[in-house]
Amino acid sequence: MLEAKVYIVGAGPGDPELITVKGQNILKQADVILYTDSLVNEQLMEVAKSDAQVLKSAGMNLEELVHCMITNVKQGRSVARVHTGDPSVYGAILEQMRYLKNADVDYEIIPGVSSVFAAAAAAQIELTVPELTQTVILTRAEGRTPMPEKERLRDLANHHSSTCLFLSTTLIKKVVREFLEAGWLETDPVVVVYRASWPDQKVVKTTLGQLDEAMRAEGIRKQAMVIISKAANEELLKEEGKYESKLYDKSFTHGFRKGESVNG
Ligand code: SAH
Repeated sequence: MLEAKVYIVGAGPGDPELITVKGQNILKQADVILYTDSLVNEQLMEVAKSDAQVLKSAGMNLEELVHCMITNVKQGRSVARVHTGDPSVYGAILEQMRYLKNADVDYEIIPGVSSVFAAAAAAQIELTVPELTQTVILTRAEGRTPMPEKERLRDLANHHSSTCLFLSTTLIKKVVREFLEAGWLETDPVVVVYRASWPDQKVVKTTLGQLDEAMRAEGIRKQAMVIISKAANEELLKEEGKYESKLYDKSFTHGFRKGESVNG
């Protein structure tokens, strides 16, 4: 039996097998399920109880949405609020939590597989390659939502870290410009993953210089993750001995394994 509260559940990127076991258990037991029908896979709702109320939230505004959650919980029902990917990135959950807190309604967040990780998996890349890049920046290009002063794409690009762009497919020209201005090369690798983990997923491996054209050629205008990263270079698979993690290095001692001395 679930408690009468709101469970904010990360649905994962699309593939219904990519929800967590915990998230799915909540969908099986919840009295009310509210999901963003434009982004969350409907198949996930197949496990709902036969008498569960399953509602699509795309047509609701924030007030309607929270009103629905609050009244149901106050009447003793459990509510699963299902978000795409992981709720903590571009999930717009803060405003929902604020209303719930004000109404004294408890909530719990269940993480999910973010599209950024589904995209990296589809592209078969490691985002953090030793000595190449050890930092991942999750960000977006500036559109209607203004970027904070200290987070201009150009400044972030200056770090030369793996940069994963959400919500940015229509702003690609600007993205490329800012990266080139920050010193990246036209030949630097980029991978675009459209609808990662869905049956119509597309993985486009290209370069900064060709990114705009490549996306246009594939007709990618939405629901895509753009990963700009030196680690997205396929040549790395061939460079044996370079950029390897110390974790498996024979001479490296760590908490679980004592390294061999390199000299003898
Ligand atoms: N919380 C979500 C992100 C929501 S914002 C997450 O963790 O994935 C919506 C943006 O996420 C889209 O514009 C797109 O950039 C990205 N996105 C969501 N699902 C995706 C998918 N299956 N494949 C590629 N990108 C996706």
